[in-house]
Amino acid sequence: MPDDNISDRLARLIASVGPIPVSTFMAEANAHYYATRDPLGVAGDFTTAAEISQMFGELAGLWLADLWLRAGRPADAFLVELGPGRGTLAADALRAMRGAGLEPEVHLVETSPVLRTAQAERVPQAVWHGDVASLPADRPLLILANEFFDALPVRQLVATRRGWHERLVTHTEAGFVPVPGPLIPAPLAPAETGTVVETSPASLGIARALAQRLAANGGAALILDYGVSRSAVGETLQAVSRHSFADPWQEPGSRDLTAHVDFEALARAAAAEGVRVAGPRAQGEWLRAMGIDARAAALSASAPGRAAEIEAARERLVAPEQMGELFKALAFVSPAWPEPEGFA
Ligand code: SAH
Repeated sequence: MPDDNISDRLARLIASVGPIPVSTFMAEANAHYYATRDPLGVAGDFTTAAEISQMFGELAGLWLADLWLRAGRPADAFLVELGPGRGTLAADALRAMRGAGLEPEVHLVETSPVLRTAQAERVPQAVWHGDVASLPADRPLLILANEFFDALPVRQLVATRRGWHERLVTHTEAGFVPVPGPLIPAPLAPAETGTVVETSPASLGIARALAQRLAANGGAALILDYGVSRSAVGETLQAVSRHSFADPWQEPGSRDLTAHVDFEALARAAAAEGVRVAGPRAQGEWLRAMGIDARAAALSASAPGRAAEIEAARERLVAPEQMGELFKALAFVSPAWPEPEGFA
């Protein structure tokens, strides 16, 4: 169902300012999308590792708890999750942390009122933030972000015979369509006609802000998402609706828009702020190194009737042809904190 409200608003914006950057289109569409629904699960548009199995959040929580223990158990460390969805990952991570003697304050960075309500059911003690700027200062942070960065807006630059253009989005009788913007005067390397480069200034800005806090106050961040280990050219912006790919330019605000995360760019941005970077490492390898096989065996032993379901979930998270390879784990660690598990 097209959402007339957001489509009209974007069409009016384009009518008044002219074609808009892809990043503006993506930011507006996703803000509307997440603000108006819970998109997760079988009845929604997509599912995530956190929703597939409790093992995912537990191992993420244990990763942070282990670092916290070895950093000397700082009492004022607090948990931060970016884009917590239904709150499942935070709840599973907190349960695992409690087993390690860690019961941190919880700060959730979430813009969607609908999802904040869902998160409050699972993590009622949380404090919510609209962005990372208002997180408490001067205390160690234990940060999680799963499928958050892929939802942040990308700009697209396109090589043409006449030079590089930023791709813009205009609105015609046929709907929204991508069009070349003015030529970019900056000296970009020549590339084959049609080459598209994506950048996500919003993602780099958040990576920098997190890294500055980690370097100054201690702590660690675990970023899990789908994307590439090395920066690469190519168009990856995609829309998903009801568990299938859809046209990203149609029906803004009613489809989930994501792009591959450029882990190399995130790592560089964070390293420049003085944190240690570990990874990226394939999600399947990281989960195995963190003990997912043993955790699955223990869960199956205590609930034999669920053994097949637990094994199917484990396989979905780690198998290279499923989520094991395209998805990756990347860590930022304060220089004053120990080496993280799972990346060696
Ligand atoms: N981490 C969850 C959900 C991933 S979906 C899971 O693994 O299941 C993406 C999440 O990021 C949603 O909670 C969405 O509302 C949130 N989000 C998207 N853009 C955001 C932004 N700019 N600022 C804060 N949260 C955002």
